[in-house]
Amino acid sequence: MHVKEPEKKPIIIFGAGRCGKMCFDKFEDEVYCFADNYKAGQIYCGKPIISFDELCQIHQDYNVIPATFDNNEIIIEQCNSAGITPTYRYRLGCRSLQDDLIVEIKNMYTCCSSKHERFSLELSGNWKNDCRLLMEYKQTIIDKMIKNEPNDCDGCSFIHHDFYCDNPELKCFNIAGGRGEHCNCKCIYCNVPKLNAFTDFGEYTFMEPLYAFEDYITKDTLIMSGGSEITVSPYKQEYFNFIRRNQCYTKFLTSGVLFSEDIANLLKNDARNSLCVSLDSGTREIYERIKRVDAFDAVVANLTKYRIFSSNITLKYIIIEDINDNENEIDSFFEIAKSIANNLMITVEYSCPDSGSDKILALIEYFFNKAHETGIFAHSYAKSFDQSTLVKVNDIRKKLMYSKVNNKVEFIR
Ligand code: SF4
Ligand code: SF4
Repeated sequence: MHVKEPEKKPIIIFGAGRCGKMCFDKFEDEVYCFADNYKAGQIYCGKPIISFDELCQIHQDYNVIPATFDNNEIIIEQCNSAGITPTYRYRLGCRSLQDDLIVEIKNMYTCCSSKHERFSLELSGNWKNDCRLLMEYKQTIIDKMIKNEPNDCDGCSFIHHDFYCDNPELKCFNIAGGRGEHCNCKCIYCNVPKLNAFTDFGEYTFMEPLYAFEDYITKDTLIMSGGSEITVSPYKQEYFNFIRRNQCYTKFLTSGVLFSEDIANLLKNDARNSLCVSLDSGTREIYERIKRVDAFDAVVANLTKYRIFSSNITLKYIIIEDINDNENEIDSFFEIAKSIANNLMITVEYSCPDSGSDKILALIEYFFNKAHETGIFAHSYAKSFDQSTLVKVNDIRKKLMYSKVNNKVEFIR
């Protein structure tokens, strides 16, 4: 398969200027020093600057990142001609394209969005081959992005400048392979039972793709699994063992209706593990209307217990028209969130016909303002929005970012 992860080594940033500073901010703990064609002998960001000749002598022991805004191709060429292969380059790209692999019932995706179905690949049952095809497809787009050539991602608002390597990696593996058959909620927005559960090659459990790709999972891989409730899944012990065996980490997407000692221990033993619950409400009544189970008190109690083991807890609020789309419910949600969560996510129901309405945008803004006041980090699961709405959602973000001194508001891809 076409996955090449840069070997972990200390970093030398080639270019001691503004772009080099951005690179330093991103990789700070891993940076050994800077290199520069004109500033050797000086100090930058508290690190020494070495000359290009010195870089040529020691580069084998380091990951080298060229970092200039204007002359990046020139210094990349300078590196290449000296036999130095840069690890990352500053360019346009997309984090999902670089890192994600998503398996969803019948398809595999480059990015986590049903709004971007042009990037799906129908599962054939030959997992390794499907994965290879998708990674090759990603590589093709990345190659075109590097050369500034037209590509299938053109126009997507998730594209932005950052330091990306030239190959896709497999850092986030999201298996939505469950079919809702093992769940203790009946969410009104659940689309799982509506999907045709059977692929052309039959049924599979969400463990199958995990086992098929195990060779490519490293201890830095984040694994997420959805579409089923892990605490009532017959595969839960296999899943927990898989995480332990590979020393990778996971975000437990759980309803929170049941408390799991295994999850609590995994949260306690690896600070990277986290928990995410869609509460979608702040009151028992609205919770029951959305989840269609009488479990509000149990969920809040279980979250409070999990909080003893980890602060890495995300509470999600999915806006559903005419049910929880009001400020009072959001206020009640924050009353619970402030003692439990360190991370909040707001989004809108996937099938919402007008996710970009003024009302929904105003609620998103209200949510972020509350998050700021409460001091909890908040982001939006932006992929539930179509492209034109995303532009508006990003405008809200910009407005908040520029108006807040201690900004805790951020959007994810
Ligand atoms: S640029 Fe957009 S469409 Fe392309 S992989 Fe990223 S999120 Fe998906
Ligand atoms: S928790 Fe997930 S799988 Fe279960 S009913 Fe809700 S959306 Fe569907």
